[in-house]
Parts: sequence; C-alpha cells; structure tokens
Amino acid sequence: MKFNFNMPVEIISGESCIAAHPEKFALGKSCLIVTGRSSAVKSGALVDVTAVLDSLNISYKIFNEVRENPLMSMCWKGRCAALDCGADFVIGIGGGSALDASKAIAAYAGNPEVEAKNIFTGCVAPSLPLIAIPTTSGTGSEGNSYSVLSLDGENRKKTFKNAYSFAKTAFLDPRYTYSLDSAYTVSTALDAFCHGIESYMSPKSTVISRLLSVWAAKTIFAILREKTADYSPDDREKLMFASCAAGIAINTTGTGFPHPLGYNLTMFKGLSHGKACAVFTGAFIEYTRRSPEGKELTDSFAAETELSLNEISELTRRLADFNDALNEDEIELFISKVKTASNFANNPYVINENEMHDIYRDINK
Ligand code: NAP
Ligand code: ZN
Repeated sequence: MKFNFNMPVEIISGESCIAAHPEKFALGKSCLIVTGRSSAVKSGALVDVTAVLDSLNISYKIFNEVRENPLMSMCWKGRCAALDCGADFVIGIGGGSALDASKAIAAYAGNPEVEAKNIFTGCVAPSLPLIAIPTTSGTGSEGNSYSVLSLDGENRKKTFKNAYSFAKTAFLDPRYTYSLDSAYTVSTALDAFCHGIESYMSPKSTVISRLLSVWAAKTIFAILREKTADYSPDDREKLMFASCAAGIAINTTGTGFPHPLGYNLTMFKGLSHGKACAVFTGAFIEYTRRSPEGKELTDSFAAETELSLNEISELTRRLADFNDALNEDEIELFISKVKTASNFANNPYVINENEMHDIYRDINK
C-alpha cells in the first residue's frame, strides 16, 4: 500500500472567494495577468482580480495572447512581457491553456537566463509566484505542477513540470464557469473524468490519490449521465471541485495512454482535449483488464465509484462524439508523434505499437 502525497497549492473555494482574500495577492508591486482571448473577461474573473489589485495598489499588465494548446513561442512572448513590466508575480486566469501557459511564463521569468527551448530542464531557480484561477472544470491544472506545451512547428505536445511549477494559491469560484458553453463543459468534464480513471489505474497511485480519483469520477459521471446542457450552479460547483480533485490526483500519478493518443486528435483533427481523451476510455478499460492486476483495479474502480465499466465505455464514447475514420498514413504519423510518451508505462498493462495501431484503427468500433 502506498500513502505518498504532495500538494503544495493552497486552494480557496466558493463564490466571491477572490474578493474575500485580497491578502493572498500581496506578492509584490507588479504582476502579469495571463489570459486567453476573452474567457477572463466573459467569466467575470478578470474584473474581480483587477479590483483586488487596484485596492492593493499593485500595478498589472494583461497578456491575453494565450490560445488553445499553448505554443512555447507564445509562452516565451509572455515571459518577455513579464520581464518588461518587472512582474513580481503572475496570475493565470482561464482554462487549462491559460493556466499551463502561466506556469511556463512564471518559470521562464524566474529563470531569465534560460533559452526558450531549455524550459524542460533549464529552469532550476524558482518560478515567479503564481496565482491560478480556473474558468473551466477539466484540467485541474490549478492543483498540479503540469504545463502541457505545444512545440512550435511539430504538432506535438510536451509536458513541462518541476518542483516550482505549482501555483501558490488557486481560487475556485464556480461562477467563472457559467459562461462556458455546453460543448466545452462536457468536454472539460470528460477530461476530468479521464484524469480520475487513468490516475486510479496508475502503478504510482496511492491511497490518497485514489480517494480523490474515485470521488471526482463518481461526481462527474453522475452529472454527465443526467445532462449535457443547462447546468445548475450546484452542477457547476461539483464539476469545478471534482476537476480540481482529479487534477491533484494526476499530480501523484500522471495520466494513461488516452492522453498521448488523444493529443493527436486535438493537434490534427481539432477535437477538444477532453473529448479527444474520452475517445479512448473504452479501449483504456479493455486493455487495462488484459493484466490480472488491471482487472482487479478496474473492478475495484467500478465498485468504489458504483459505476459499470460498460456504461463508462458507452457514455464516454458517445459524448466524445468523434466519428472520423483514420487512414493508415495518419495512424503511422500519429504513433510516431507519441510512442515515446511515458504515459504508456503508467498502467499495469503496457500497450505496444501494434496495439496503438489497433486502437486508432478501431476508433469507431
Ligand atoms: P482551454 O483550451 O483552456 O479553453 C478552451 C476554450 O474555452 C477557449 O476558447 C477559451 O477561451 C474558452 N473558455 C475557457 N473558459 C471559459 C469561460 N468561463 N467562458 C467562456 N469561454 C471559456 O480548455 P481546457 O480544456 O480547460 O484546457 C485544455 C488544455 O489544458 C490543453 O492544452 C491540454 O493539453 C491542457 N491540459 C493540462 C492539464 C494539466 O494538468 N495541466 C491536464 C489536462 C489538459 P479563451 O481563449 O478566451 O480563454
Ligand atoms: Zn487531460
């Protein structure tokens, strides 16, 4: 039995939690706010943050150039903006893309001598302090050290993380997700569900990470099973907290093979991240069960979440809503992009390249 756990982020939750805790923003005289195109404004989070910064006389610059699946070059641009304005700290507001980008920018800015391409190993000094404010309920980035970056010109993602790439504080105000449309709400919920189930099957999972995985998966599935639109404030709150819990769980374990296989559906087919992972949840259960330990784990996951494995496979597949067939050339290209990912070994049953091929080929069966 394993009981290891590390979670250095302070999580503050609830409606108006930012206004209730201005002291958490007293991290310097100047900060860089990192956001996407419009979600920070639409969600209402930006105005709450700037009100607190104004009340504390902290100057700020807004870097709103983050796009979905953030490119390293864009994070580098954010790093230059942070250095230009003499930022003492960084605030990330948005979905996983903005939060992941804010982690990279905070790392670069804390290590100004590091070249753009060396982020993965070169950032040995602490990042600038980071406050994370999610506006989606999916990645759980606010509760872990991962920053998933897209490599310029390569159609490939690579994860940056180090001992300093955690937020200092995360504010979870479910109202910030009210403006997220139904399609993205479903996709992000699927992402968090995938984190729950993939984390549970990992050989690195512990008693504590599994508790988080089970609670998150059960909470999310109950909502997804019932509705795919018209989410109530109570649903939004549950989704936000469950997504954070699953994000914390994967900090201990990492994710499984649906993540790298799914990255290709995002990079080449434009499918949103959560749906792209959920396409493979059924296969993930099937292949995990090919080892005796995996069979035991999937059975205990079903028992603890009180969910049937068949229903999980069916619902995730249906909600992922991906109906393209992949041709042989595409499949070969996809496998070449991800076959060295560490996620494959993160399961009692390790799929080989032929099996990756089968999974992509049978994507619609
Ligand atoms: P996202 O890419 O951050 O955002 C998707 C879209 O939703 C964007 O157009 C965004 O608009 C919009 N949006 C976000 N919040 C909104 C709101 N409240 N109201 C209206 N629109 C809103 O989506 P995501 O699924 O949260 O993040 C996916 C990224 O996270 C991927 O790059 C994935 O690889 C990564 N990821 C990270 C982890 C981790 O542990 N760190 C885990 C899983 C996935 P704007 O452009 O205006 O922001
Ligand atoms: Zn994910």
